[in-house]
Amino acid sequence: DARTSGKRRVLLKLSGEVFGGGDVGVDPATVRGIAEQIAEAADQVEIAIVVGGGNFFRGAELSKNGMDRRRADYMGMLGTVMNCLALQDFLEQAGVQTRVQTAITMAQVAEDYIPLRAVRHMEKGRVVIFGAGAGMPYFSTDTVAAQRALEIAADEVLMAKSGVDGVYTADPKKDPTAQKLATLTYDEALLKNIRVMDQTAMTMCKDNNLPMLVFGMEGAGNVTKALLGERIGTTVSV
Ligand code: UDP
Repeated sequence: DARTSGKRRVLLKLSGEVFGGGDVGVDPATVRGIAEQIAEAADQVEIAIVVGGGNFFRGAELSKNGMDRRRADYMGMLGTVMNCLALQDFLEQAGVQTRVQTAITMAQVAEDYIPLRAVRHMEKGRVVIFGAGAGMPYFSTDTVAAQRALEIAADEVLMAKSGVDGVYTADPKKDPTAQKLATLTYDEALLKNIRVMDQTAMTMCKDNNLPMLVFGMEGAGNVTKALLGERIGTTVSV
């Protein structure tokens, strides 16, 4: 891993629910707000982003309602690309150079996923947005976040959450004595079935010693802080 810039390099995972502001589809004002926070950090950190698509389609849900799982998963992956384009648009408006790379070829819309080129973009100060998941049914964008982070040699995965600002000793909505944890190991998270990301993704992070920050989107400037390495939320590591 020849890191030329000496900068911290991170992989930010934004789930689809973040884009919709709680609804189906894309909420432009919400995406603009996130883009502006990313722009604040973009000259100090190398940033790649994996985008989810749950605000459009989740394959597992469509298949429960009668669709073929594989085709439904492709619909899910295509949904992520729309989120990528919305994020790209608002990042460019905020003065950040961006490239979208997709795991499913769609040359008019985005570059193909080419890891070395993605790294080169980051070294040039561009934010790289990864869409279309892994290009394979039965995967999740969480797993893709772990895989892309490893392949581009990111220092950390940043899991942005809405409605919760870290990992707690119990469900803070049900138990008033629940306390936020500053740190947690992957073994504890896996053992206690704490769903900060899916189990496949967590196992991949654990096996490859890749740390992760779980943080809440809600606090002012939280995305910028997480990108810059502030220990908001919960750090999960081996
Ligand atoms: N998906 C897939 N393969 C992948 C990534 C995603 O099939 O590599 C599909 C899957 O149907 C998933 C949907 O795309 O439900 C949206 O992704 P995800 O649920 O991970 O998005 P998020 O929960 O982060 O919004």
